[in-house]
Amino acid sequence: MPYTYDDQNIFAKILRGEIPNTTVLETDHSLAFRDIEPQAPEHVLVIPKGAYVTYDHFANTASDAEILDFTRAVGKVCDMLGVAPSDGEGYRMISNAGENGVQDVPHLHVHVLGGRNMGRMVA
Ligand code: IMP
Repeated sequence: MPYTYDDQNIFAKILRGEIPNTTVLETDHSLAFRDIEPQAPEHVLVIPKGAYVTYDHFANTASDAEILDFTRAVGKVCDMLGVAPSDGEGYRMISNAGENGVQDVPHLHVHVLGGRNMGRMVA
């Protein structure tokens, strides 16, 4: 089923500069910014600049350049936050999708959470 992208979603507005954000990293195809309601000492959202609703939508239809850029952006954010297990204490990465995933904002985003023990994941 084709995805319908709502260009009035809040992250689309952030990408257009209509709503302020606390940018952590900007690359050719991605933007990372702090979550407005952080659930951990470090809570950053990484989004592609393209109009993708969910990770599967992105992974199945984005260009190789966008996918590489986004993947590297997530890694760079982990480095910048100092949460990578190689030099920090680890992190959790989550991407909620659709109704069952309880996705609030219909523009693909990966949550990177760290700075505390995240506890065992519960479904
Ligand atoms: P979701 O439930 O995975 O869709 O999460 C959406 C996230 O976006 C939540 O963690 C919100 O706190 C966050 N959020 C909503 N509006 C903004 C904003 O304007 N700036 C930064 N984060 C936001």
